[in-house]
Amino acid sequence: MKIINPATEEVLADVELADAAETDRAVARARAVLGPWRQVAPGDRARLLRRFAELVDRHAGELAGLETANAGHPVGNARWEAGNVRDVLHFYAGAPERDHGRQIPVPGGVDITFAEPLGVVAVIVPWNFPMVIMMWGAAPALAAGNTVIVKPAEHTPLTALRLAELALEAGLPEGVLQVLPGAGEVAGARLAEHPGVNKIVFTGSTEVGRQVAAAAARTVKRVTLELGGKNVNVVFADADLERAAATAPMAAFDNSGQDCCARSRVLVERPVYEEFLDRLVDAARALNVGDPRDPATDLGPLISAEHRSRVASYVTGTPHFQGGCPAGPGFWFPPTVLTHDSPADRAFTEEIFGPVVGVVPFDGEAEAVRIANDTDYGLSGSIWTRDVGRALRTARAIEAGNLSVNSHSSVRYWTPFGGFKQSGLGRELGPDALAAFTETKNVFIAC
Ligand code: NAD
Repeated sequence: MKIINPATEEVLADVELADAAETDRAVARARAVLGPWRQVAPGDRARLLRRFAELVDRHAGELAGLETANAGHPVGNARWEAGNVRDVLHFYAGAPERDHGRQIPVPGGVDITFAEPLGVVAVIVPWNFPMVIMMWGAAPALAAGNTVIVKPAEHTPLTALRLAELALEAGLPEGVLQVLPGAGEVAGARLAEHPGVNKIVFTGSTEVGRQVAAAAARTVKRVTLELGGKNVNVVFADADLERAAATAPMAAFDNSGQDCCARSRVLVERPVYEEFLDRLVDAARALNVGDPRDPATDLGPLISAEHRSRVASYVTGTPHFQGGCPAGPGFWFPPTVLTHDSPADRAFTEEIFGPVVGVVPFDGEAEAVRIANDTDYGLSGSIWTRDVGRALRTARAIEAGNLSVNSHSSVRYWTPFGGFKQSGLGRELGPDALAAFTETKNVFIAC
């Protein structure tokens, strides 16, 4: 497959896609090294992951450059992402030596539990955050003693392939971490159904996530699903309006809106609706859309021409505000602010995955919560208020896995991340991620 730079439409590389037979061979290689990898002493496994993290750090500029070229990420974002890959590896490098079981008091003997690795873990990755999403699955899976096959998205395999080389250079044995570029319907589908794969970590659309879960069910595979989102940003009248409005555009437009956590549904309490909307538009007008290699760029291109057409289909009629973007080659789309007569509008309920944000007024806390929860998704969201009681009540009432008050943060590698409802199943990151890559074994010894 020809890998395209979405900012220039130039061909960056030619990558061979694995067919079903090659996928089977990758699974066989991953199974062959399971035993030896499990036998690596916890301290040595930790050291290998730390060495991998150090190599990522040394190559952070190169990795960021690859992500900028391949996914169109503004270079500042891409550098943060390379740093996140390093930090996630360091964080889980601390895990093998702390992955202890329990001793449970029972009559007639001793009872102990072990956290056993699952086996072969396949990590299926989307194109929007290629290297970080790969490592959120791969790092804890490796730390727990599993072997890993990463299937990157068709459009964005370059950082994953480079990371696999760095893993080998760090000393991870051949076959422990494989990267297998391939089509979703071929390599991805084969991994999901393969009896030799013990777990699938899938990040992508809810529609494909359902298919993956159904295929995995045939062999009762473990699954973690990180799926779509249509997240709210609720602004109460007592909020710090200046900060809330200044941050609202990038909370929706970061990574050009190609973010499952994008706060693309802004709900504003009616008394401050007009003032907030004006301020939000001022902040959106100040954004730079352009060359992702320029450190002053806020928004790069969308991933493909096809995706741009999909995003454009949501903007019918005259938007409340639309900024500018480069003409000529590249899959550009301008930052766009929509207002809606009804929160049932398609653009306000469906995941657009582009730089399009919708703004709707509400009356009172109960209505805000009702609109927020009127969706099958439940990934993230933000609440802006100076009233701590209201902040907590609203955070408890909104059905989503990751909420932030007076900020837009969703993802920290120290804390659990994942979705309610049809935004996913299971949690990644945080202190408990190893539990998603191990099976509890209980052993009773009579004495
Ligand atoms: P996608 O579902 O089209 O593809 C995701 C991955 O699945 C790709 O690697 C693709 O090749 C593979 N795939 C496609 N068909 C498959 C099949 N039948 N069997 C197995 N694998 C298959 O998603 P996308 O367009 O790459 O990414 C965008 C979506 O990802 C959005 O919906 C977004 O919200 C979601 N996402 C969620 C999170 C999260 O953490 N919740 C994070 C990032 C992106």
